[in-house]
Amino acid sequence: MRTEGADDDPGQLTWRGAEQLPASVAAALMGPGAPFELVTETMLGRQLQVFAQRPRSLRAVFDATVARQPDAIFMVDADRSWTFAEAIADVDAVGRVLVERYGVGTGDRVGIVAANSPEYGLAMWAALSIGAVVAGLNGWWTGHELHYGIELAAPKVILGDEPRLARLAPDAIPDGVPVVTLEAIYAQARAVGNGGRSWTAEVDEDDPMVILFTSGTTGRPKGATLSHRNLIHFAWANMLTGAIGAMTSGAPRPVTPTQPVSIMASPMFHVSGMVGILMTGGILGAKLVFPPPGRWEVTRHFELTQAHRVTTWSGVPTQFWRLLRDPDFDRYDVSSVLNAGGGGAPFPPELVREFLLRMPWVTLGNGYGMSETAGMGTRTGGPLMVEHPESVGGVNPTLELEIRDEQGRVLPVGDVGEIYLRSASVFLGYWNDPAATAACLDAAGWYRTGDFGRVDKGMLYLASRIRDLIIRGGENIYPTEIEHRLVEHPDIHDAAVIGVDHHELGQEVKAFVIRRDGANLTAADVQSWASETLARFKVPAHVEFRSTLPYTETGKVLKHQLETEERARTS
Ligand code: AMP
Repeated sequence: MRTEGADDDPGQLTWRGAEQLPASVAAALMGPGAPFELVTETMLGRQLQVFAQRPRSLRAVFDATVARQPDAIFMVDADRSWTFAEAIADVDAVGRVLVERYGVGTGDRVGIVAANSPEYGLAMWAALSIGAVVAGLNGWWTGHELHYGIELAAPKVILGDEPRLARLAPDAIPDGVPVVTLEAIYAQARAVGNGGRSWTAEVDEDDPMVILFTSGTTGRPKGATLSHRNLIHFAWANMLTGAIGAMTSGAPRPVTPTQPVSIMASPMFHVSGMVGILMTGGILGAKLVFPPPGRWEVTRHFELTQAHRVTTWSGVPTQFWRLLRDPDFDRYDVSSVLNAGGGGAPFPPELVREFLLRMPWVTLGNGYGMSETAGMGTRTGGPLMVEHPESVGGVNPTLELEIRDEQGRVLPVGDVGEIYLRSASVFLGYWNDPAATAACLDAAGWYRTGDFGRVDKGMLYLASRIRDLIIRGGENIYPTEIEHRLVEHPDIHDAAVIGVDHHELGQEVKAFVIRRDGANLTAADVQSWASETLARFKVPAHVEFRSTLPYTETGKVLKHQLETEERARTS
């Protein structure tokens, strides 16, 4: 669904789905009393379009899924599986332990730092069921970075797996905060038994339910705080898009709808894994296949796809490149995969072409969104993605998008400016950081993304260099954070960090370093210094020593110049 724009129109996109549909379809989906009835309501002082028939908490949505299909498999790993009925029994038992043993109440934070596993997923569902807020700490962080996240979120209890909990220094954990392995909490949960819910939780739809950490421009992570409503709204918007597609495509409906099957191939501490797979799975009733903990592997992905007849490949372009270019691709049966894609990173046109060559039956999709909007933004897919591979598509239902100049004025259609978004999925703010929140979220609910782009014929095009951000294998990296660390080294006089092109990863980190006089620092020294406090994905893959850097008159490094030089050198 998209709006058409004339040249003198403002650079705005609003969803006009209802107006473009045949009246009977619009009435069946969005009319009074219909599942996707749209109304305008006041939400946190903002006037927004919301779904009238929405559930008011994620737990209520999950309860409905369990009631619909108690015996379907929800989660499976190498040797275990949970039906929806078994999953909710475990969720309730873990919830009981969190409430009774660890005193977790409404609004308290439950910190989790773990590799993906069913236990991690069920612990998230448990925490949000009791009205707590999940603080999803990045599992690739070093101890140093984890301590910062813990200090910011101030959790009542910290859960995790052994390798990651081992990175925590005991004296960096606030007094009295228990640190418990997921294994131990499960043992405790099994010991109390799943004798039903022993707790009640009063959850308001605008209560916070998760803190997703985003790398910040200032070099410190910020905790984007999302509510139950934020996630439910996005899920309903997606379901509406799906329902419109099904009712207008003319394709025959399957007699028996099959259960979607996804591989948990994105980390659950990011919006992609948490919202895109774990929550979506619980809402839609999908089966989620968990690979063994550890690095994501192509062979395992193929094996699981074949064994579980996986229908959806969710991931980042780096993973898709590796799958499509794997020499053993033809050895596996991947015919069950019907949809593939994700969001959060550019999807190169070359990848679209290669996908359609190898798996022509698959419908591709890519989204532009962010943690701060629960992932909601624009979406492209199918023929649109093939015809307009440079675009990230039209707006999701109910989303408003504006392209503005530095003064916040809406620019004409076609002009490049900053992207602003507004919908009921826009976050509550950054946890415990009113200044950062005020800098990007206004009273009317407009979120200033920091990204740049333009709109054309109802679609959004991101500006090629969207901001001072490196996206490596789908992981966002702000150069400032690395530069801050580098210049703390006694032998480094100055440093500048940029992203350099990498075929599979999209980008890699490169540092330009000026040594202090007389120092004989090596590239390996620089890398080892960075890795003491920064996660591995942030450690510069390339280090180049220079005697000087290009500076502006005010002393800022001209990154554009470094990038241009780099591109000239490698092309
Ligand atoms: P995160 O909150 O970690 O998901 O990162 C969100 C940021 O990733 C956005 O603000 C954009 O800068 C970038 N991003 C998201 N989606 C896309 C996309 N489809 N293509 C390019 N960059 C994207």
